Amino acid sequence: MLTKVQGLIIRTVDMKESDRLVTLFTKEKGLITAIAKGARSLRSRQMSSTIQFCYGNYVLYQKGDLYWIKESELIESFFDLRSDLERLALAQYLCEVLSYITVETEEETLLRLSLNSLYAIASGKYDIDLVKAAFEIRASSIIGFMPDVMGCSACGAKDGDFFLDIMDGSLLCYECNSHRPSETPQVSDLGESRIVSLLSASARVAMMYCVHAPLERLFSFRIPPEDMTLFTRSCEDYLLHHIERSFKTLDFYKEVKH
Ligand SMILES: [Zn+2]
Repeated sequence: MLTKVQGLIIRTVDMKESDRLVTLFTKEKGLITAIAKGARSLRSRQMSSTIQFCYGNYVLYQKGDLYWIKESELIESFFDLRSDLERLALAQYLCEVLSYITVETEEETLLRLSLNSLYAIASGKYDIDLVKAAFEIRASSIIGFMPDVMGCSACGAKDGDFFLDIMDGSLLCYECNSHRPSETPQVSDLGESRIVSLLSASARVAMMYCVHAPLERLFSFRIPPEDMTLFTRSCEDYLLHHIERSFKTLDFYKEVKH
């Protein structure tokens, strides 16, 4: 039986002879692993549509437990991602994250978020740290960890500095946080029971935008340069905490980012 899927190739592994094992993030079935027979051969029609970051239509057939790619039709190759090491490294991180966050019923939204993010990175029109942060906090929201950053959870304040509780996604303003009974917060200290991240007023607004904006306008916001670090660090900490892992591709991105 043939299965038609539309998806993004997030990982490839070379196999014996000239076969290629590909991991697809598909709109219809989430993550799928499939073999592209002979795809590394120069004569193969599938050579250019089965490499990492290719987005396309794929016709699969199943033999035993495995899917095999019968036909493929490229929609977008994201070729420009390969022209710059930082962009390439960030795109690889996005793909690695995607391989750990499949949520049934949300595949199509996650795929749209990822494609929009890859377009934004490839275009060169955006600060790629901003794209990274927007992707991280929106992906967290889609998979069920939407932070409540409308204002202080105790008094409703919308101005001033805030503490974001990374674990439950709630905000406290500086004032309310200082009235907490026991402790002063341990900022980004993963060994403590309460993990908080500082958010300036502008960083809070940016995060709120990324959680709620239409996906097609996700990157159309600005944040003052002095608030950028608080914003990007909070988004990264938030995602990594909730999917409970670190990523080699993220370490590599930080290495090549100058
Ligand atoms: Zn408050």
